Amino acid sequence: MKFTEFNFDSGLLEGIEAANYIKTTPIQELVIPHILNGKDVMAFAQTGTGKTAAFLLPLINNVLTKKAGTGIKCMIIVPTRELAVQISQHLEGLSYFTPISSIAVYGGGDGNDFIQEKNALIKNAEFVVCTPGKMMAHIKMGYVNLDGLQYLVLDEADRMLDMGFYNDIMFIIGKLPQKRQTLLFSATMAPKIKTLAHKILHQPIEVSLSLSKPPEKLCSRHLWFMTSKKYRSSFIC
Ligand code: AMP
Repeated sequence: MKFTEFNFDSGLLEGIEAANYIKTTPIQELVIPHILNGKDVMAFAQTGTGKTAAFLLPLINNVLTKKAGTGIKCMIIVPTRELAVQISQHLEGLSYFTPISSIAVYGGGDGNDFIQEKNALIKNAEFVVCTPGKMMAHIKMGYVNLDGLQYLVLDEADRMLDMGFYNDIMFIIGKLPQKRQTLLFSATMAPKIKTLAHKILHQPIEVSLSLSKPPEKLCSRHLWFMTSKKYRSSFIC
């Protein structure tokens, strides 16, 4: 499927072109329409499938095109600083030709990092990509305006639970507006993920994509996949 079929903002399409994405990957084709339709989504997909752009693209488009008040619009919670940096760079690349603002918030930095993050949060960066513990620390300081938040993504949710972030995640979610769109991405379908999903998602669309082989570098070969609807196809770059 071509990205032009989604009626994306022209600046976003420029970013997609600059990233040299010609066609959607299977996970993108499956979840982007649901996210654009405002549905909560629970997606089971591994790294290497293009899952990051599968949620970034429709969310960037929504933030660009839907009128909303001030404040942080979208929070993406991830398990590690490495993933926070990676997603943040991905976001900056795809939104390069748009006025979207973003900040990565993660542990392990020094006092300067904390002040930089605090300033971006006070100025209401539209996208925040964060690890749970550090985000919780900022929220507890009282200057983070979450009243206008519309989109929440939990990426690699299974890993976050394995790392013991359940309470931190639930603390953060407790501070968010109840009326929001929530997306949960996980590599596995562990029962604890389903329990978490049941608590925080509203009538989610479930998408499952399992590769027949472990993911390697995307675009280097065929990726065979199977969805929950027993739909089988191939993707060739
Ligand atoms: P991810 O699964 O999100 O970690 O993405 C794996 C890699 O696939 C990243 O390097 C992305 O830039 C790349 N990628 C994502 N979507 C596409 C696409 N539609 N076409 C080509 N490469 C893509």
